[in-house]
Amino acid sequence: MKPPPFAYHAPRTVDGVLAALAELGDEGKVLAGGQSLVPMLNMRLAQPEALVDLSRVDGLDAIEVTDTHVRVEARVTHERLRRDPRVTPAVPLLRQALDWVAHPVIRNRGTSVGSIVHADPAAELPAVLGLLGGHMELRRVDGSREVAGRDYLLSPLDSDTAPEELAVAAVFPRPSAHTGSSFLELARRHGDYALAGVGAVVRLDEDRRLVSAEVACIGVGGVPVYVGLTEALRGQPHDALDLADAVGLVRAAIDPSDDIHATGAYRTHLTGVLAERALTQATAHATHEEIAA
Ligand SMILES: Cc1cc2nc3c(=O)[nH]c(=O)nc-3n(C[C@H](O)[C@H](O)[C@H](O)COP(=O)(O)OP(=O)(O)OC[C@H]3O[C@@H](n4cnc5c(N)ncnc54)[C@H](O)[C@@H]3O)c2cc1C
Repeated sequence: MKPPPFAYHAPRTVDGVLAALAELGDEGKVLAGGQSLVPMLNMRLAQPEALVDLSRVDGLDAIEVTDTHVRVEARVTHERLRRDPRVTPAVPLLRQALDWVAHPVIRNRGTSVGSIVHADPAAELPAVLGLLGGHMELRRVDGSREVAGRDYLLSPLDSDTAPEELAVAAVFPRPSAHTGSSFLELARRHGDYALAGVGAVVRLDEDRRLVSAEVACIGVGGVPVYVGLTEALRGQPHDALDLADAVGLVRAAIDPSDDIHATGAYRTHLTGVLAERALTQATAHATHEEIAA
């Protein structure tokens, strides 16, 4: 199918983008990598009057790595972020999750910020942002604001972005010392959206016992489901984990529905299996990080 007719704006500056979005209001939409929006236009699931293309904007393409965070601007593609050698040592969970995101051709065009704005329930990066306690930076003609990653996704395909706002960057905090992470998922074909996925972050103390643990589950609710597991796991030694209670808590926290790809019961079971493996991997990763530190 072909998209409905739309006007096309290609500003050269961020101010030009903001001015166009302010003027268009509900009738405009940002075009970033187009990997989600263009299929939606073709299927007539989105029918904006006008698109505001970011591809010719001067700027918005930085990956900033500091002592405290990795800040990713709106035009940075998944693949650029995945391959940046500064990113994995700073925030390993980004690379661990990006390895699962889509297929190479889609990663070459699709933007990481765009995927968070798009808010697909099975997208990896919104869960990473929330799990790490990161935030989004939003700008409009008359101001800017920050929204915590955990509050940013409202419902499937709906994030806290007003029509006249541009998401300029996503900010992922660096984890503290002795922290390990992992991201695991299962899709029918590698690169497709996951049937279910789990990101895990675990922190150890000096004696390599768990002091905190949390997972984010994707594909099993309208938005990522975060499950705190510190109470269940605190004090456990890194090399003799008993994850039965934690897996039970994860399964109890989700209630996925049946769809054409899988039953809810299957997704619930799968999420427990993925959580067990991700927590094990994240703990091993934390041990390794500790040795490396
Ligand atoms: C076959 C296939 C498989 C895929 N698999 C995965 C997967 O496994 N995991 C995954 O996470 N994604 C997956 N994707 C989606 C891919 O990651 C997209 O790149 C991403 O969802 C959207 O990024 P984009 O830059 O292409 O945004 P676009 O398609 O250009 O835009 C998407 C939406 O976000 C809005 N938007 C984008 N950027 C901004 C901004 N800076 N400010 C305000 N609004 C903005 C647009 O207006 C639009 O509503 C898949 C896509 C396809 C086609």
